[in-house]
Amino acid sequence: MIRDTRVRGDDETIRKALSQADTMILRTLLYQLDGDRSGIDFPLITVPVWGGAIQAEIVDPQYDEAIREKAFALLKKWRDEDRPVPAPPSLDKIFELMEIAGGIKLTKEEQQVGLEELAIEQYPRKVELDKSKASPDKVKNFHVLVIGSGVGGIASGVYLEQAGIPYTVVTKDGGVGGTWYRNTYPDARVDVASHHYSFTFETPYPWKHYFAPQPEIVEYMEHCAKKHGVMDHIRFHTEVLAMTWNEGKSVWDVKLRLPSGKEVDEQYNAVISSVGLFNEASWPDFEGLHDFKGKLFHTSEWDHSYDYDGKRIGIIGTGPSNMQLAPKVAKTAAHLTIFQRTPGWVIPMPDYRSPISKEHRWLMDNVPYYDNWHRFRHFAANMNASEEAMTIDPTWNKPGSASRGNEMMREFFAGYAK
Ligand SMILES: Cc1cc2nc3c(=O)[nH]c(=O)nc-3n(C[C@H](O)[C@H](O)[C@H](O)COP(=O)(O)OP(=O)(O)OC[C@H]3O[C@@H](n4cnc5c(N)ncnc54)[C@H](O)[C@@H]3O)c2cc1C
Repeated sequence: MIRDTRVRGDDETIRKALSQADTMILRTLLYQLDGDRSGIDFPLITVPVWGGAIQAEIVDPQYDEAIREKAFALLKKWRDEDRPVPAPPSLDKIFELMEIAGGIKLTKEEQQVGLEELAIEQYPRKVELDKSKASPDKVKNFHVLVIGSGVGGIASGVYLEQAGIPYTVVTKDGGVGGTWYRNTYPDARVDVASHHYSFTFETPYPWKHYFAPQPEIVEYMEHCAKKHGVMDHIRFHTEVLAMTWNEGKSVWDVKLRLPSGKEVDEQYNAVISSVGLFNEASWPDFEGLHDFKGKLFHTSEWDHSYDYDGKRIGIIGTGPSNMQLAPKVAKTAAHLTIFQRTPGWVIPMPDYRSPISKEHRWLMDNVPYYDNWHRFRHFAANMNASEEAMTIDPTWNKPGSASRGNEMMREFFAGYAK
């Protein structure tokens, strides 16, 4: 969605904000909003990222000031003239702008995904029912069951709502969020940027952190479910126990356990499974685990009544949950041992725990389309990233890596870990 905004603020506020702005976005906006191509004509340089394993295009920093100066003049003009946000450009122009913003060439397929990620359109996958086949009566009597109220369940509900198809969402949890409802361990947070880890139908959103912690994500999910009317369709603490296709009636016979514990049978015309991959805690299987006399729990079932201060703690596993949790536990535990079977790789993440700066907030709130291009830049970075590092080179014969790029990435990660 496009943020309905006007440029507000004195000259100093604009300048300060621009000092933190991404010049790849500014050059895109100069062209989009003012037809000024000069920002595009400034040369780009290729910078190594992750030790050269991947590369990124950025504006040659010696031209940053010139671009910021042009952007300042533009924003000042828009502020003084109190200009409203203009309508999005044509599709061809958007594709051209996408390549300018990303500094990359996009295939036709990438253009389509990128267009969704740009989130100019609120419901890019909206389905229009064919009224000649789906009469209002037929639709009224058609009922969909959505299992799960995580990101998948909420998105399913929003699109069914859009299409006007009756539906019910069931979840065995007591609230929305799925993964994010259950994983409340210390410092649980996304490791994909918040602006990227959000729905096109509910962006822009005033994220407080570049990488939102768990409570902020659950708040976002609740906000989405309420605002888009899904919340009223959710039955909490309701578990699907079994489903059988009823050939004669062309419906699913679904066995549900209600919050009271009672089991009931219901029928639905269609079922959307949004049960996710991690809805059951995964326990290792080794001798003695269940004879352990100390406190024992899984990160997805964190016992907040347990005080780990001053205790000897062991954490099994070195995945993302541990990466977030361990530094927190280590601060106050008497001793922390991490049990590692397979070592994981760690990459540096600038601003991982930082709140969004005042200047960035201002850019998103005031500059037309900045929010959309900021989101798109995350997508573009991922598109650009790691193709070489993840492609097997059949002629490469150095043990421990699969290609030159792969080896460079590996060395960079190893160096960072050291
Ligand atoms: C700790 C952790 C951190 C993560 N971090 C990231 C990240 O930074 N970025 C990223 O992209 N992904 C991350 N993920 C992956 C994350 O799971 C997905 O991004 C996303 O949340 C999955 O959503 P989902 O709706 O598919 O499933 P879930 O969020 O798992 O939701 C499943 C839903 O199904 C319900 N359900 C399951 N079985 C039944 C049943 N039988 N009856 C009724 N209801 C049922 C559950 O109650 C729940 O509501 C992370 C995962 C974990 C565990």
